[in-house]
Amino acid sequence: MSRINELKSEMIAWRHHIHAHPETAFEEKKTTEFIIEKLKSFGITELYTDFAPTGVVGIIKGKKEGRVIALRADIDALDIIEENKIDYCSTIPGKMHACGHDGHTATLLGVAKYLSEHRDFSGTVVVIFQPAEENEGGARVMVENGLFDRFPIEAVYGIHNQPNMKLNHFYINHGPMMASYDVFEIKVTGVGAHAAAPHLGKDTILTATQIVNSLQSIVSRNVDPISSLVVSVTQIHSGDTWNVLPQQAVIRGTVRAFSADVQDMAEQRIKQIATGIASTFEAKAEVDYQRRYPATINYAKQADIAIEAAKKVVGENGLIIDPLPSMGSEDFAFMLQKIPGVYVWLGAGKGANLHNPAYNFNDEVLTTGAQYFIEIVNQELGG
Ligand SMILES: [Zn+2]
Ligand SMILES: [Zn+2]
Repeated sequence: MSRINELKSEMIAWRHHIHAHPETAFEEKKTTEFIIEKLKSFGITELYTDFAPTGVVGIIKGKKEGRVIALRADIDALDIIEENKIDYCSTIPGKMHACGHDGHTATLLGVAKYLSEHRDFSGTVVVIFQPAEENEGGARVMVENGLFDRFPIEAVYGIHNQPNMKLNHFYINHGPMMASYDVFEIKVTGVGAHAAAPHLGKDTILTATQIVNSLQSIVSRNVDPISSLVVSVTQIHSGDTWNVLPQQAVIRGTVRAFSADVQDMAEQRIKQIATGIASTFEAKAEVDYQRRYPATINYAKQADIAIEAAKKVVGENGLIIDPLPSMGSEDFAFMLQKIPGVYVWLGAGKGANLHNPAYNFNDEVLTTGAQYFIEIVNQELGG
């Protein structure tokens, strides 16, 4: 592990460079060029850029033949104006690495450099630098473009840093880790009227607010109390002035769950409630329900491998096994739909939360994450 500690200052420099040049979903051109330049300088020449508009996949072969595993980092930034006063602050107006993907990328670059220098493993490590984790599901695009068909990858491993979780502790679940993420839009159409003559219209605001109230009954009355479900209405748009009952109202929101059954139920109930209430008030409701990210469900076998690897890095006391999962979502889920693997959280200690304008990746976890990935390779392809 001393070699990884030697690489620390380089990893920090890469992280700061990426932090200063944030790029968002499928626009990570300079970031991808930077990664490719680094990988080539490490002697990693088998590179693939055709799985997504941006991002890159590198192949590192061990000295002996063997199984194939993958390590994944996400590389994209967010549309946030950075508030940090640091000398490597974002130079791109309105864009910022506020989820720590700059750190994930630097971590995996460090791992790639180490593995390229130390090829004393049996098999192949595929390093996946994945674009567009935020909003656009870059993992789905890479999977659909055959990432796991072209290479016989048996398991995939990912890390996400987590501020305000214990510094340099690994949080590892054997099952659900992150929830699914669906969005819905309900268009309520009535008959517009003068506010002084409501009897001549069909009131869309009254209808929409009844729908919003009743959507709350899905979580309280339709789902098994032991299961998890969140239905959040996050937008309601209607009306332009004081004395008009508007003809249309639009409600938007999100649904998060851990199982497809619960997702199916929520979709069905949203449609029933919206159309039923609209017809009660003589209006119409059209529901558009879209599934964005599936739930991230870890595989128990790979979770055990992750636990053994993490134990080597932070010891027994640095492990939190089977923590409560998060209702947030993660497009690593698309990879786990295709092949086994595990997604773990790496505690980053006190600081601003993810997606906050004052967030900054904690450089103290770079080597911890890198050592963990190297131990995964030892566990999977050692000897
Ligand atoms: Zn994020
Ligand atoms: Zn993230």
